[in-house]
Amino acid sequence: MVIRKKPLAALLIAASLAVGVPAAFAKEAPAPPAQAQKAFDNKIIKKISADNMYNHIAHLAAEPRVAGTEAEWNAVQYIEARLSSYGYETEIQPFTFENYYAPKVAVTAGGEALSSSSFTYTPNGVVTADLVYAGLGRASDVESMDLTGKIALVQRGEISFGEKVLNAANAGASAVIIFNNEPGGINGTLGEANDNYVPAVALSREDGERLRAGLAEGQTISATVSVTDGRIVQETSHNVVAVKKPTQKKKATDQIIVVGSHHDSVPGAPGANDDASGVAATLELARVMANMPTDTEIRFVTFGAEELGLVGSYEYVDSLSQDERDRIVGMWQMDMVGSRDAGDLVMFTVDGEKNVVTDLSAAAGVRTGTPLTYGQEGRSDHVPFYEAGIPAALFIHNPVEPWYHTPEDTLDKISKEKLQETAEIVGAAVYRIARPDTPALERAKVAPKPVEYEKIVGGIQ
Ligand SMILES: [Zn+2]
Repeated sequence: MVIRKKPLAALLIAASLAVGVPAAFAKEAPAPPAQAQKAFDNKIIKKISADNMYNHIAHLAAEPRVAGTEAEWNAVQYIEARLSSYGYETEIQPFTFENYYAPKVAVTAGGEALSSSSFTYTPNGVVTADLVYAGLGRASDVESMDLTGKIALVQRGEISFGEKVLNAANAGASAVIIFNNEPGGINGTLGEANDNYVPAVALSREDGERLRAGLAEGQTISATVSVTDGRIVQETSHNVVAVKKPTQKKKATDQIIVVGSHHDSVPGAPGANDDASGVAATLELARVMANMPTDTEIRFVTFGAEELGLVGSYEYVDSLSQDERDRIVGMWQMDMVGSRDAGDLVMFTVDGEKNVVTDLSAAAGVRTGTPLTYGQEGRSDHVPFYEAGIPAALFIHNPVEPWYHTPEDTLDKISKEKLQETAEIVGAAVYRIARPDTPALERAKVAPKPVEYEKIVGGIQ
């Protein structure tokens, strides 16, 4: 799961579009007897092995799998080899992305070395010049100032870091120091690369205020701002796709189901739960379903570069034709589904509305003895599918464990029971529509009877 960010414009636009729920669920119809349903569920869930999933995690979480690294590529090869061994057609889908490597920064002022940090997308450069205080760095603050060849000292607040840097640079500054307006350091970004930026670094409020006071007293303060080795590098990550074509050629529908997870992790984190757990469940469901009779195409997909902003899943959805998008009736994303220290299994949709994926899974949860709730959240690979108009949901234990995105996200904290529970629900829900005796969703005469399930307040905790 990716870290929480400010809402993206794209998400807000997408959220305002109505996304249709397949008509199968518009009308209630009598469900087959519960016993018959359970017998079908058992064809899947009796075959699911928590030990298999645990062993996949043990292999994958031996080291962090950061997007674009050899370790991620090793994970991709492991996943592809497993899927091939189950008899699937597989594809490794490469894509490139830009990775930003933070620079080394150093600041001295008045001969004293100060603790500093960089802003993402600051250009490199080493500048020695006199400091000039430029207030909040708004256009109105600097319009009457000549900062030519100077280092602008600017306070945080009111406008973005990027705007402050551009305003100071327009007034001639050779570098910018932004100091905090609250205790602690700044972990900031200039938003995007810009040729008009000058090197920019951050100082604490305490250091910044001291320099400002010295300037106000009329001192001349010479400073050096050093920003080196920052760079943007084109890197390659991969998605892994396995396709199970319908086994029942005559009865085959043209519908597609996607079961997904992400195989990359954040730097320093072995990612046992985030998201080797989801990959392990994806692999185990692929193994279990490999020889099951089905009338629906099932695609098992593990995405790369999820942690960098859902890059792999956007690439995957972009690669689909409109015809394929129209035929995908549901996307199940499993991300962080095995931590012994996390809460209950929750389904999250981008718009906070129920859909065919949550309906089918809630019904499966009732049958397998795990009642589910749902809520509103993005932050994983269900988002690009939702934006393409495809019913999608994220399956995750909520609240998340304290080891999220830390070096402590390790195998010893994985619960086989949690893995089993998730795989059973997703497996039973997917098989409910993939098996040949249930008609295609929009033509269904026997739609799954919706079960009651509750909405939780707030997103992922
Ligand atoms: Zn994550």
